[in-house]
Amino acid sequence: MTDGETTPSPVGDWSPEQFEACGHEVLHLLREHFEGVRDIPVSRPLPARELLGLLAGGPPDRSERFAQILADTRRLVMPNLTHWNHPSFHGYFSNSASFPGVLAELLSSALNVNAMVWASGPAASALETVVLGWLAELAGYPADADGVLINGASLGTMYALAAAREAVPGLNVREEGMCGVGRGALRIYASDQAHSSVDKAAIALGVGTRNVVRIASDDMYRMRPDLLAEAVRADLHAGLRPMAVVATVGTTTTGALDPVPEIAAVCRAHDLWLHVDAAYGGYWRLVPELADVVPDMSLADSLVINPHKVLYAPMEVTALYCRRPDALAGTFRLVPEYLRTQPDSGATDYMDRSLQLGRSFRALKVWWIIRSYGVDGLRERLAHSVRLARLLRSWAEEDPDWTCPAESPLPLVCLRYEPRWLHPYRATEPDGYRKRAAELNERILTIVNQSGDVFLSHGELRDGYAIRVSIGNIRTMTEDVDKLWRVLRKAAAQADQPD
Ligand code: PLP
Repeated sequence: MTDGETTPSPVGDWSPEQFEACGHEVLHLLREHFEGVRDIPVSRPLPARELLGLLAGGPPDRSERFAQILADTRRLVMPNLTHWNHPSFHGYFSNSASFPGVLAELLSSALNVNAMVWASGPAASALETVVLGWLAELAGYPADADGVLINGASLGTMYALAAAREAVPGLNVREEGMCGVGRGALRIYASDQAHSSVDKAAIALGVGTRNVVRIASDDMYRMRPDLLAEAVRADLHAGLRPMAVVATVGTTTTGALDPVPEIAAVCRAHDLWLHVDAAYGGYWRLVPELADVVPDMSLADSLVINPHKVLYAPMEVTALYCRRPDALAGTFRLVPEYLRTQPDSGATDYMDRSLQLGRSFRALKVWWIIRSYGVDGLRERLAHSVRLARLLRSWAEEDPDWTCPAESPLPLVCLRYEPRWLHPYRATEPDGYRKRAAELNERILTIVNQSGDVFLSHGELRDGYAIRVSIGNIRTMTEDVDKLWRVLRKAAAQADQPD
């Protein structure tokens, strides 16, 4: 390749030599990006209309030089992204893509594997089986449970609840549809802190959001099993049909851990399906001091847990498990003639365990990551995040102008700026206090995120608005948390100016 020309021929692809040369340029760009990542804004995009205007235009009729495409990507796209791989990204759940995971993605997309049936990608399916076993072991879930790698926990919960619906005696929704449900609505129970994906699953499954019963949580934002038992009994008495309970290990807003064993006991008493959403929280059990704090998830009928949230896997990879043999396949298996293959002992056709047919080779990146760091290396990195979160929490607790309004053993820190001058109003005007604190903290969040120095998100707690800081990025070090605390306090000083 001389001047970056990649497509001299009107048919066929670039030559492998050109592919390698362009690949080197991409890797070089990424090397520079990561070497300087602390010096670029974590997020400072142009306003939407301006950005759309910049990227507008029809598809080019003629081939463009790769060097130009890459230059435009560098100039127009990269600065207008929110960089989840930035060590100062602490929004949502701060997942990050590790280098082995990124390289595995390159390899798997280059090989363009489709792991729909065993024969369409034998080693991909075999690795999926292996990796699902490893991930289950790390989660403390039975390693022989049926599993499948899917794109996210939201769909995982939907698939699990579809299997739960199929398990309701006398329904057979798979064949009869929801018409057979008749009277007595199906009911799903989840805490008032459970993720919105439970409601979305209820929408998709024809259960309806009104039939997602939100069980109150305790002062640590954990589902109350006594209230769950009461709600199930009341529904049975009213002729409704309890279908499943969703417990959360690591809630979105505060990182709360529902008491899974106690919830499992309620489920057992009523023969109810227990699904555990451990999308965020499950793998923190690898940290020795959290091993007994993260609840045992092995009793769950089904489980979702996200390597892409916690185990440094690039988007998207979630493990969905079900310990009821064949329950997922019993719900989703449908084999048209063209997909029928010769039986092969030990082979799994992973298309049978979800709605997705064409499937990417998600197992490779997980295999590379676990092998590259080892379980001990993953444990150490997770423990590092837990230590950093404790450090941040300790700084906030020592500062009379800040509070930590929710506890969590996981590295998710909820913070609130509550300046001393505001304290007297807490008792005298509680509503005004709360409103004023919410305004201040919202302003702080806006200032912080507009600065490009740090990226954070927020949540609504029982006692008001909170700034959420998720610490889990593989590249985040003490200096980054130190910077975060400086940026937060500076933003607070700016937000707290007299009007
Ligand atoms: N469950 C919990 C507790 C979450 O916090 C989230 C997202 O943050 C999800 C499920 C959805 O995960 P996904 O983005 O993989 O669909």
